[in-house]
Amino acid sequence: MTSDMLARATPLSVRMLIGGQLIGSEATIAVRNPATGDVFATAPDCSKDQLDAAVQAARAAFPEWRARPYAERQKAVAAIATVLSENLDTLKTLLTCEQGKPLPDAMGDILSGAQWCQGTATLEQPIHTFDEGPQRSGRVTRVPLGVVGAISPWNFPVALAMFKIAPALLAGNTVVLKPSPYTPLTTLRIGELLKEHFPPGVLNVISGGDALGPWMTSHPDIDKITFTGSTQTGRRVMASGAPTLKRITLELGGNDPAIVLPDIDPKKLAPRIFWAAFRNNGQFCIATKRLYIHQDIYDDLKSALIAYAATVRIGNGLEDGVQLGPMQNPAQKAHVERLIAEARAEGILCETVGTVPQTDGTFLPLTFLDNPPDSCRAVREEQFGPVLPLLKFQSTEEAITRANACEYGLGAIVWSSDEAAALSVADRLEAGTVWINDCHYLSPLAPFAGLKQSGLGCEGGLEGLQEFSAPRTTFIRRASKR
Ligand code: NAD
Repeated sequence: MTSDMLARATPLSVRMLIGGQLIGSEATIAVRNPATGDVFATAPDCSKDQLDAAVQAARAAFPEWRARPYAERQKAVAAIATVLSENLDTLKTLLTCEQGKPLPDAMGDILSGAQWCQGTATLEQPIHTFDEGPQRSGRVTRVPLGVVGAISPWNFPVALAMFKIAPALLAGNTVVLKPSPYTPLTTLRIGELLKEHFPPGVLNVISGGDALGPWMTSHPDIDKITFTGSTQTGRRVMASGAPTLKRITLELGGNDPAIVLPDIDPKKLAPRIFWAAFRNNGQFCIATKRLYIHQDIYDDLKSALIAYAATVRIGNGLEDGVQLGPMQNPAQKAHVERLIAEARAEGILCETVGTVPQTDGTFLPLTFLDNPPDSCRAVREEQFGPVLPLLKFQSTEEAITRANACEYGLGAIVWSSDEAAALSVADRLEAGTVWINDCHYLSPLAPFAGLKQSGLGCEGGLEGLQEFSAPRTTFIRRASKR
């Protein structure tokens, strides 16, 4: 498969992995290339019976998989990284065609997934032992939960799927993975590639339309749901999982603030601050979505950001030199356009930069909002697109209060040349992850958690691994010595 083939919109189809078999379906869903608007492939539309078959296969595979020595499961999870790296070229082209992101970013998405598998595989599950005096001792071990339903979104289809399957499998569970209907292909292809790497039923990959997610979250034989997506859908997932008391991990939306202290050099830092907000076209849960700038440097940083934005090339992600692709889907594009139109109607100055290709693709230029009030919808709500409100502040205290006045609590950034000053601000921000003079960095060895309406539980690190198991305490009564 070459990029030419895909670019010419050759119909392409991939199959689901169910119980170790590659399987199509009667119905299919169309997959659109966001750079051209063309439907270039189809994916299976998993029926209810096929979901049941996947869950049954996962259930049947569970006893043998949970009994495997932990070290063997570590090797199997690390091997996913090798498969992803060995197939990087074809996977990245497919990902660009369905998601829109430029090839280097598609490569980044896949390699992040590989690194996550590699890093997760190094985690050890500690056994806690305790002594209760002469009569009793005890230990706490971890037991896997059973069948895990993993549901992923369209913005980072590969990395976010790996964030789920690596710890789930390592902990001894079996998995049914479902990608977004907007971007099912690369995940399904990875399922095809992993077919021989796991015993039948241990990893199942299915795709489908809007009905499939709710079938999974209410399925009586799925024990745990790990979900990444919007806060609105997260609430539905929780409600749907309640009757069967599913264990649930939710990685949800964000409206990340970044605070820029007055001691930075605006011109020098502008490109890094730009990419913190606009990477992946802002379709990034941990993108900067509100940029609080000290009044002393507001005008300089605004000019530097706009000047830098004008140098960024927007286009079809398959082309060399393109730095930003199209928005992933028409609904998301329309949402961002609505937010900008509303801001304009409120009299807010909107600076729009960039030339977009004239195709049926879902391209958008880059927009900066000049000091809108905090009540503006583009400030209050997650935009998830190439639009950034620039917000002027007078005192650090004010910036912290405004940054925290938000229902979300995913990530935050402090930009400053004074590390101690930045740290004291960082410690007061209501976010699960805070970066100082950095952005987007996540580690498989550290937890990534959303506070407030940004989620429940976490991914990454030992804490993330333990979301896929339960503690089991064993008390041992000592034999009396006589
Ligand atoms: P979405 O909530 O629309 O969909 C996410 C997934 O859930 C898709 O696979 C979708 O098919 C499925 N789904 C939809 N309705 C469902 C239902 N009722 N029950 C079960 N599953 C259902 O989100 P999206 O538009 O794909 O992704 C964008 C959102 O994801 C943004 O809000 C973004 O911030 C968030 N996100 C969060 C993180 C994080 O780690 N916190 C990472 C990436 C994206």
